[in-house]
Amino acid sequence: MRFVIALTLCFLFHSSLWAWGAVGHKTVAYIAQDRLTPEARKAIRKLLGPGQSLVSVCTWADTVAHSNRTETAPWHYIQVNVREEQNRYDLADVCRDHQCVVDQIERDEKVLWDKWASLSAKREALKFLVHFVGDVHQPLHCAEDDDRGGNEKWFRYYGSKRGGRYTWVNLHSFWDNLLETHAKESPRKLSLQLEQSITPDEASAWQTDSPKDWAYESFRVARDNIYSELPSGPLLEKNRWGRDLPEDYYGPQMKQIVYERLEKAGVRLAYVLNQIFQGE
Ligand SMILES: [Zn+2]
Repeated sequence: MRFVIALTLCFLFHSSLWAWGAVGHKTVAYIAQDRLTPEARKAIRKLLGPGQSLVSVCTWADTVAHSNRTETAPWHYIQVNVREEQNRYDLADVCRDHQCVVDQIERDEKVLWDKWASLSAKREALKFLVHFVGDVHQPLHCAEDDDRGGNEKWFRYYGSKRGGRYTWVNLHSFWDNLLETHAKESPRKLSLQLEQSITPDEASAWQTDSPKDWAYESFRVARDNIYSELPSGPLLEKNRWGRDLPEDYYGPQMKQIVYERLEKAGVRLAYVLNQIFQGE
């Protein structure tokens, strides 16, 4: 029994933070890296030090949230209720004590803009920023349905890639790992594929520097495309029939959503960094 509880706690904690998994975060970092200006590229190389890059540091924030920096855990998400009327102006009320992904992105940007901030403070802010811009584009990091952002909504899922059997999945970690379980692509390959489909018009329309807008966009995707079909509230009982996610859940429609979220995250991260590091 103790083992089961430990395992459950471990899984809940793990899954609530592991946004996009490594494939998603690295894909975002590659897209951003490829769009940096020479000045930004140089400044980032200098800041991160030899052998480091946006890609190599992009999952660091998940690692520290699990170990010695547990106070950073709330910085990975903002929980906006999908069953209530919301608009972008309401998000500030949801960000309790300014401890959410929106306010944290703003804080990290501020440190990077600050010419008096220490090198180590800037380095840390950059490592957080590259991760959180990814997280804020994961729809379930900006939504909740009295289910802790999908962590308490359990479904049965039949996966031929999961040993050809039913497994229990919670919506949040299932979404975080959509890419992990299905994508054949490496993050590098996937990023190149996505970069080719980003048109200059799209990129300039996406290039905004308001994390609040990015979060609100994620929230709307979660509300309209993910939660609208699902029963409301937590679904904790695991032994009932009729709560199956279809095997083809990650079909063309969801794939399109995931790819666009990753593209937008990469374009916006580059845009923000290019602004900060211009002419350094
Ligand atoms: Zn995260």
